[in-house]
Amino acid sequence: MNLAQDGAAPGVNLNPLTCDREDGGGFDPYRDPAVDTSSDPSRDLSRDPYRDPHRINADLHCHSYFSDGTLAPSEVVARAHRNGVGLLALTDHDDVSGLSEAAAAAAELGIAFIPGVEISVSWGGETIHVVGLRIDPNDADLCAGLASVRSGRDARAREMGAQLARIGLTGAFEGAAALAGNPALVSRTHFARWLVERGTCTDVRAVFLKYLVPGRPGYVPHAWARLSEAVSWIAGAGGVAVLAHPARYKLGELALSALVEEFRNAGGLAIEVASGSHTRDQVRRFARLALAEGLEASRGSDFHSPLESHADLGFGPVLPDSVLPVWHRWV
Ligand code: AMP
Ligand code: MN
Ligand code: MN
Ligand code: MN
Repeated sequence: MNLAQDGAAPGVNLNPLTCDREDGGGFDPYRDPAVDTSSDPSRDLSRDPYRDPHRINADLHCHSYFSDGTLAPSEVVARAHRNGVGLLALTDHDDVSGLSEAAAAAAELGIAFIPGVEISVSWGGETIHVVGLRIDPNDADLCAGLASVRSGRDARAREMGAQLARIGLTGAFEGAAALAGNPALVSRTHFARWLVERGTCTDVRAVFLKYLVPGRPGYVPHAWARLSEAVSWIAGAGGVAVLAHPARYKLGELALSALVEEFRNAGGLAIEVASGSHTRDQVRRFARLALAEGLEASRGSDFHSPLESHADLGFGPVLPDSVLPVWHRWV
């Protein structure tokens, strides 16, 4: 089911943490102007230390088979619950189709859930990912934007198949498409899984290095969304834009600063300081950057599959105390 198409959002509760309160949230130490210290990470939480967002095991970045994960949204939620996650966002690439299933599963298990998405962006010759948190998945501009981002994937995947066929790897497009849970979302990951299945490489990461990154025979460049567009779709849908896994981009110091500045000027509010793919040093580095740039910090495993991912749901690095967790807004 595609929410973008049928317009319905069964089970998607945009305010799952406060849904049982008639006043829409009651006392909120982070919103109450008398005690609003949200811009100050050292704020006094002595009134209710259990609401310290640093104590919550938040995982705000992961994937289901509606993009390039291998599990159903409900399986992702159940696994997160088993792993002790207290606040979960499903953030499939360029698609919101898994959110209603995930929200329903989360409501059943009593795990707080935030609807999310991870948007592919082209910037400065690199592919950048922007996570949108607590978006309204029915927002018309967001849905139209995501549809436009998805629309080039099929032709790109067919071209990848053609290029791989030229080096003797025939049937790659059909193989990748058969592994994709969502026909609109055939990604490089599906090609990588197919090449592992047929024994060409031992694991997905090896396939990327050999075939699927710039300069390699199966790589097909693609123009994704513009940074300002992606951020404005997210903000327009009531969400918070987060610059995903900043350590993964092949950008020097200057280019990274320019990216962060453009992201912030477009309305971006947070940076994913703690990603499953970040080392401890990278967590420290991006915590400093968040503080220096006045950005809030997010945390996410970027879980795709039990067998492939850097970190399982709810695991991976945590945020240093110095930064303000972006989920302070929702707890
Ligand atoms: P696509 O959006 O089709 O370009 O695919 C991008 C996805 O490929 C990312 O979201 C990751 O899940 C995965 N990916 C990218 N680079 C690597 C890599 N070096 N090793 C493993 N997976 C990767
Ligand atoms: Mn992915
Ligand atoms: Mn990503
Ligand atoms: Mn991701």
